Order: sequence, then C-alpha cells, then structure tokens
Amino acid sequence: MNLGVYIQVPFCQTKCTYCNFHTGVVAADRYAPYAFAVQAEIANHRDLYASSGIPESQIQNAVVDTVYFGGGTPSLLDPGHLRGILDAIRRTFTCEFAEVTLEADPETVTAGKAAAWADAGINRVSFGVQSFSDLELKSSGRMHRREDVYRAASILRAAGLHNLSFDLIIGLPHQTAATWRNSLDELVALTPEHVSIYMLEVDEGSRLGRELLSLGTKYSAPAVPTDDQMADSYDLACSLLSVAGFNHYEISNWAKPGRASRHNLKYWRREPYLGFGAGAHSFSGSTRWANVHDSAQYVAALESGYLPAEQIEAVSVKQAQEEEIFLGLRQLNGINLDQIEPAYAASLSEKFVTLQSAGLIEREGNIVRLAPKKLSISNEVFVELLS
Ligand code: SF4
Repeated sequence: MNLGVYIQVPFCQTKCTYCNFHTGVVAADRYAPYAFAVQAEIANHRDLYASSGIPESQIQNAVVDTVYFGGGTPSLLDPGHLRGILDAIRRTFTCEFAEVTLEADPETVTAGKAAAWADAGINRVSFGVQSFSDLELKSSGRMHRREDVYRAASILRAAGLHNLSFDLIIGLPHQTAATWRNSLDELVALTPEHVSIYMLEVDEGSRLGRELLSLGTKYSAPAVPTDDQMADSYDLACSLLSVAGFNHYEISNWAKPGRASRHNLKYWRREPYLGFGAGAHSFSGSTRWANVHDSAQYVAALESGYLPAEQIEAVSVKQAQEEEIFLGLRQLNGINLDQIEPAYAASLSEKFVTLQSAGLIEREGNIVRLAPKKLSISNEVFVELLS
C-alpha cells in the first residue's frame, strides 16, 4: 500500500487579506525549533500514536511515495531544515519517492534555495501565483508581483525542477474579465505542468471575507467581482486550459498528461496519508485525526514527548460512504456506483435523480459525475446531497 506524507508549515511573511488558513506571521527564529519538532514527530510517530490511542495497523507496511510540504509558506524554511524533514521520513518509513512537492511563494525563490531543494529530493514546486495583475496582488496583501513569477519560474527550471504547478484565484479585488483573461494567458505562456484555480472563499475566517459579509469597504471589498462574474471566469479557465492541452481532472485542478498531483489524488480517493506539523490532518484508512493548530503549543508538546492530536475520530460506515460520494464527485471522472454500492451495501441511485433532472449531474450507466457546465456551482450539488 502507498502512503502520502503531508508536512504542514504554518508560517507566512504577512497575512493575505483573503486567507482563511490557520497560519501565522512569527519571528524567523521560530522556524528551526518547529522543523526539529516535525522531525521528532515523524521519528517517534509510532509511539506517539500508540500513546494517543491512534490505530496504525493499516499503514504499518505502507511505502511512502509522495510527500507534500504545504502551508503557509514552506519555502520560508531553511532548505537544510526541509532536507532534515525529508531525511527523517527516509529513516522512518520505507520510501520510494515519486513526487515530493514544495509549496512556494514566488518572492521567496532564490537560485541557492532552488538548487538545495532539488538536491534534497524535491521534484515538484507548487507556486502561489494567484494573479498576474500587480493591482490585484497588492490589494490582496500578497508579497510578490508579476515579475517575481517569471523570475522564480526561470530559476526553478534552471535548477532542474521541471514539474511546476501554478495557483490562481478567481475573485480577487479589482479582477475584471480582461485581467482574468490576461492572467490565464500569461500562465499558459509560462507552460506549467499543472494548474490549480480556486474561487475566493467568503467566510468569517478572513479579513476580506468578514468585510464582504458586513458590506464594509476595507481591503478593496467593493472591488470584488460578483458571483456571476466569478462563474464566468471559471468557465473561461475551463475552456482556455483545455485548448492549451490541460486535462481537467478535479474541480480545481488541471494537469498536462501524466502530471496530475499524485499526492492530492490520495485525498480524493480516500487513500491513507499521515500529516505532521501544527494543524496537519491524517487519515489511516479508518481513523482521521488532526494536530493542534497553534505552532507554539505543537512545538511545546513534541518537546515534552507527547502528540498534540485534538480530533481523533473513527470514520463510521455512513461517513465513509458520504466521503466516497463527495470526494469522488470532485474528480471529473466521477464515481462508479457499481463499486460504491456493493462496498457499502447501499442503493444510491435515488440520491441523484433530482440532481440529474436539474441538469447538475450526468449519468452514464452507473458512472455519475458533475455536469461539466455546472462545475462552478458544484457546492449546490454537495449541499443538496447532504440535505
Ligand atoms: S501566503 Fe497563503 S497561507 Fe500565507 S497568508 Fe497568504 S494565502 Fe494564507
């Protein structure tokens, strides 16, 4: 069995206005103790799981084939610390690394770091590009500018890192149909192997989200595009990326042939992964758990020799079945009722009848998938399925 390892690095240089992640801006001298705590968690995970009541039996003989450094901004860490974490994984697990991804912000990339990343075994870099418009980047509190993306991409290619993923965000303040089109065109011209496109999330978890919900004017909230404009932007991305040779394989993800994210596919396929670091989530196949979000608490716990896991939950059969549907439907190939129904001794066809007649779902035999023209409103499908 293959296993994914996720490393959470919850530090950023500033807080972007739209960010609803549990990340913090801390002094750089906090990075090293954090990296050592992550290494300790990896090295001692068996004992730590045992003392926390986490069953590890299903993953004991698994082979780690993917590693993903996410955040936050993992590229802020000293490359030596990233290597130290990878070495801890190599020492602790049977490893056959096929994909080792580092999330990076363009302005943090230097030739020295890129060479050290490649040398440590990182072979894929996921960039938070977000936009090619400096006005959009500035108003969202991003540290980088358009030029940094070009500079960083060329540094990475020169260092031999040829599996690059670029993220864009639909719905940043000041985004217009023209600037969005330009961001897509510039992205395609830079020939990344993979693209992720996310819609702005409006919730209480970000400063911009709170401003939008209270109809305020801070953070350029009045310049955020409407829902209809965002849906049009998503549809444009689907058609332009398809023409450019990308395969749309998940609601928010496109890849050149053979370049789909092997690590992220594990999440949607309900394959096991272990998360290390503050706020990291894990799934053993039957149990889910997460570490405490606060990085200082996390480091203190590991230094005292215990695992700061705060939500340990055995996944019930009903939850597993729901996850199969929701995570499965995120993938454009859809779900196969011939596999899911016998596995859960359930008849699911009924669930999809109304959605199919509303044109939100397509059905081909026992394959069910989201209707391609309705992907931008996929949340409505998920809400309906839960009701
Ligand atoms: S860089 Fe990413 S994780 Fe950090 S504040 Fe910005 S959006 Fe959030």
